[in-house]
Order: sequence, then structure tokens, then C-alpha cells
Amino acid sequence: MRILIANDDGYLAPGIAALVRACDGLGHIDVYAPEQNASGTSNALTLTRPLSIFQAKVEGVQGFNVVNGTPSDCVHVALTGVLAQKPDLVLSGINNGANMGDDTLYSGTVAAAMEGFLFGIPAIAFSQAEKGWAHLDAAAAAARAIVDEVIASGALQRGPFLLNVNFPNRADVAARPRAVTRLGRRHSSEPVIQQTNPRGEPIYWIGPAGDAREAGQGTDFHAVAQGCVSITPLQVDLTDHAGRAVWASRLGRA
Ligand code: MN
Repeated sequence: MRILIANDDGYLAPGIAALVRACDGLGHIDVYAPEQNASGTSNALTLTRPLSIFQAKVEGVQGFNVVNGTPSDCVHVALTGVLAQKPDLVLSGINNGANMGDDTLYSGTVAAAMEGFLFGIPAIAFSQAEKGWAHLDAAAAAARAIVDEVIASGALQRGPFLLNVNFPNRADVAARPRAVTRLGRRHSSEPVIQQTNPRGEPIYWIGPAGDAREAGQGTDFHAVAQGCVSITPLQVDLTDHAGRAVWASRLGRA
């Protein structure tokens, strides 16, 4: 069993060390993580400069490979040039904060897992719903239980999949019900925050994500609000299948 672990919060984030420790004993583990916090970088690849990798020991865990790039860079470089053998599973996280609904489009945590999925490898992204790492060890234990059950189910032998897991920050999270959910929707982000730099020029901070808008029964938002673990199976096909016929009538031409 070979597992590749990445994240988007950077190699020094407590979440990835906790996930690596939780996977102890599962087999051979490779860790490739960004040098800096790369949250919100989605599936970006670095194409305008070369990447470097250095080794680090983090929280007593040996063998972290640190990449001066994005989460997708980390997995991409590991899979296409560095690892001698293809992993059986790619894990990402544990992220500092929720990746639910529209977050999944911006998330580097989901993207790192998706990079594995795009290379045909089963992958799971893990996030804690609230920032701040409260009950991180409990989330790591819950992540390990999910990995164990995925392995025991035989799913790894049945082709690639992409799971997006969000944990409520609770001490008893490993014992909480799990809901297999669909993505909810958020309201649009808050407006940018304008400030002035020391030279009198305007600068802009991207505002916070919007609150949940579509958070009904069956969504990831709803499950986590109920104190449950949300597991959303994801796909990467963005095609508006229902819209194809409409657009064919408007714009199609033989
Ligand atoms: Mn993050």
C-alpha cells in the first residue's frame, strides 16, 4: 500500500502532520506539500518558473517533501517525475476550514486530491469545517477510520474516485454519523475590502466567502450543521448536460 499525502495550507500546517501521523502503519507514505500557504489556489500549476523540492522534518515526522509551488504542483511533480511507483491512494488535508459547496472550485485541498484523481488514482480530501484546528486529533482519527473502511470496501481496486470529506470540529467526530451528501451553494463572496498602501495607492483584499445559500437536506452544509461528517463524491465534468439542447438550438450549426 502506497499513499501520497498533500495539502494546501503548507507543510508547516498542523493538519497535514496530523493526517500523516494518523496514517501510520498503513504502508509506505510519501508527503509532498507546498512551502507556503496556498489556500484558494484551486488547480493551478506553476508554468513560468521551475520548481524545487527540499526535505523537512515536521512535528517529529520525517520525510516531508516541500515544493515551492501549488498543491496541484506537489501532486503533479510527485506523480510524474519523482515517485518511483504510482500510489494506491492520494490524501489531501486536513484543511484549516470548510471546503463545502462552491468552496470546492477554489480549494487547493480538493485540487490536490483531484490531481491524483485526474491521474487515475483514488483520492480523498479532508477538511475541518471551522478554522483554528480545534479537535484536530479527533478529525485525524476520523480520517483514518474512513481510509480504513475505504480500503476494506475494496473500492481502491474498482477504479478512481474523488471524495470530499468535511468534519465538524468535535471531540467525538469519529463517532458521529456520516452523511453522503451533494454540494450545497454559497451566496456570492463579500465585496473586496479596499485599503490604501503607504504610497497612497488603493489595494484590495478579497472578501470572505458568502454564507451558505443552498444548505437544505442532503447537502454538505446541512450535514455538518447537524454535527455529522459530510462525504461528497465529486466528479470533474463541468458540462451543463441539461443546457446542451438549449444551446444547440440557439448557437448550434451543422
Ligand atoms: Mn487551506
